[in-house]
Amino acid sequence: MISHDPVDDGSHVILSSHSNQFGSAIRINWGAQDPLERGPVIGTISNKTDRNVIGTHGGSYTVYRALSIASGHFSSDHRPDLTHTDPAVAVEPQPSWFEEGRIVSLDPWGAHTNVVFREFLDQGISIQPTIAITQAHLTLPEIHGAIEAERLSVDGEIVTESRDVRVTKIAIDPVWHLPSISERFKIKESTLRKTLFSETGGMFPELVTRSDLKVWLPPIGSSTAYVFGHVADLANPERELTCRVHDECNGSDVFGSDICTCRPYLVFGIEDAVRTAQRGGVGIVVYFRKEGRALGEVTKFLVYNARKRQPDGDNAATYFHRTECVAGVQDARFQEFMPDVLNYFGITKIDNLHSMSNMKYDAITAAGIRVINRIKIPEDLIPADARVEIEAKKAAGYFSDGDTPNSESLRSVKGRDLT
Ligand SMILES: [Zn+2]
Repeated sequence: MISHDPVDDGSHVILSSHSNQFGSAIRINWGAQDPLERGPVIGTISNKTDRNVIGTHGGSYTVYRALSIASGHFSSDHRPDLTHTDPAVAVEPQPSWFEEGRIVSLDPWGAHTNVVFREFLDQGISIQPTIAITQAHLTLPEIHGAIEAERLSVDGEIVTESRDVRVTKIAIDPVWHLPSISERFKIKESTLRKTLFSETGGMFPELVTRSDLKVWLPPIGSSTAYVFGHVADLANPERELTCRVHDECNGSDVFGSDICTCRPYLVFGIEDAVRTAQRGGVGIVVYFRKEGRALGEVTKFLVYNARKRQPDGDNAATYFHRTECVAGVQDARFQEFMPDVLNYFGITKIDNLHSMSNMKYDAITAAGIRVINRIKIPEDLIPADARVEIEAKKAAGYFSDGDTPNSESLRSVKGRDLT
């Protein structure tokens, strides 16, 4: 049987580093106040001459899209029909959108493309949103428990009669402005481009051949903001604001693995965000796909094994060291980008920041956002095997209102053996 190959039509692969492929693409003037002057982000593959960025839409899912096309399940020239996809709630432009260097890793106009770039769309240019805003109800057993324990009440508005929580969800794909990113890291743009190119195995040649293209759609995970109360209130410093910025931990967040505090801290953040909204404030939980301190889950599980197989067993004194042995770094999350999402909503002040991380706190305050209270995870929510993590973090400078553990006490904090 002769298999049909939908892609191999005899045509040559044209390298995207050939500048004539980009034709008379619309320029992007990052940070410009007028969206038409700023210009749309055009990552379409279907008409390559319109493209004005490196990479394409969909973050890490761009690989699955390519696979669908290769296997003949998806047409490479499909143009999205965006009827009725407009945001369920408007996010109005904020001063932070136009302040230089304030937002470098997302496109603040990403949810508004259907409106502000209408004239380009009408010319037939394919412009895809990089932000989508919808609404939903959350059903969480911990929230039911909080209602039963009378820490939360059913108000019929934010917490419904059926004990669901009403929420606005905002999905944000990464859009990186390379000159601003190099500025934030205080490195040369050429160094950034060269390293991104070579360390991804040469995945994006335009990083080094097309210095005129300033925007990259990196093939990495997205972020999602969950807002409790009115989205517009996030920009109002008169309103009380509760915030949790959470980095993905699939094992704990979804499966309840007890070696870390991730899900308990996440859900405690949701509970407090809901409570804040119920008393007239607003809550936001931002979920970043940065699994295992952005080192990935395979690395994370290798570290777990290395920790638990040490001669002294898993203990808080060597918690960070074991990660560094396996991964080469303790943490690759780069919280420097994280406040971009907060700036997208125009947040200038956080009343209650649910995080003990000094890296997150430093990044938020360096972004000009005032933090009034830092909220640590309550002791009774720390799972049995997560003591090692929490004590090691306290010793490393994470926020705590108790004593900072010394090296002697760290060694005595033991985790479970592999079983
Ligand atoms: Zn975790």
